[in-house]
Amino acid sequence: MQDASPKTVEIGTARAAPGEAVRGAIPVTRLAGGTPVEIPVAIINGTREGPTLWIDGAIHGDEPEGPLACSHLWKEVSPDSLAGTLVLCPVLNVPAFEAARRGNPGDTFSHDMNRIYPGRPDGYLSERVADAHASWLKSVADLEISIHSGGEHSFLAPAMFIDERPEAVELGTAMGPGWGCMMSNPHPRGSPMAVMKEIGKVGITVEYGGRSHTSPELFHKVGRTLADAILNVMKHYKMQAGEAQYDENRTKGTQQALLAPVSGIYLPEPDIRFLTPMKAGDRIARIVDIWGDELAVLEAPADGMIFGLRALPNVNTGDWCCFFNRVEGPRP
Ligand SMILES: [Zn+2]
Repeated sequence: MQDASPKTVEIGTARAAPGEAVRGAIPVTRLAGGTPVEIPVAIINGTREGPTLWIDGAIHGDEPEGPLACSHLWKEVSPDSLAGTLVLCPVLNVPAFEAARRGNPGDTFSHDMNRIYPGRPDGYLSERVADAHASWLKSVADLEISIHSGGEHSFLAPAMFIDERPEAVELGTAMGPGWGCMMSNPHPRGSPMAVMKEIGKVGITVEYGGRSHTSPELFHKVGRTLADAILNVMKHYKMQAGEAQYDENRTKGTQQALLAPVSGIYLPEPDIRFLTPMKAGDRIARIVDIWGDELAVLEAPADGMIFGLRALPNVNTGDWCCFFNRVEGPRP
């Protein structure tokens, strides 16, 4: 692909000629005190022709794993060794990230930014942020990866959601070893992944980390693992030199979130294992009251595996407790 000449890439205030790595922002508006609302963006533009891979983080502000992974990629990917373009948006929802909350505390009308895409240019504040992001994403990206985690309430093992088109399965598979928990979301709505599908391009949503994995060693491991997976994706699409690796045990399934039937103290079974096959009816956790009396038992709703668990023991009725993958079988 060396015959085709790479182009200058422009996103918001960032403009990168071939061989340049630049940072800028996608402007949205200003707040009453004059603070700009914008989305930080970096463009690493290769010296050779190739696809444009766009990485998104912190659409939920309590999920710092995406920003950590992007910081590694910004430091480690050189435009000189790159075919195509790597775009990094480490923090999509800046006010939410600054408050370490899922959504922007200043916007209660469109709080969860991963439910409101493609946004509205004349909508609520977060809808305008989503619209600004989606507009550039649609015009620039070929492939998009949204990085999520369990945030302030949960821990999620490496897992992903794909829409099952062959090109989406390919992008998911390219995440490499450890990323075999591939769940189906054939009709994504309200997310960057939905925007990409609507225009015939590919986006996937990946999950890793969260509460209980922010201690020094584990948080570093999560950031490193996410960055390595994206470097593997870049090898798969020949954006970087080297041979991509693939997970040997990929499964197909669908997500089922188990919500707390009662309030109390959430106690996962001490020997429970992530991404390990279990049978319908196997015990996952108990909820007890403050005197230790059992109020409810959470069980596997089907044969499958746990890919996420609540990590905040205080629980109220309706809170997320378990993220379960109803496994249909192995992927070819
Ligand atoms: Zn999230």
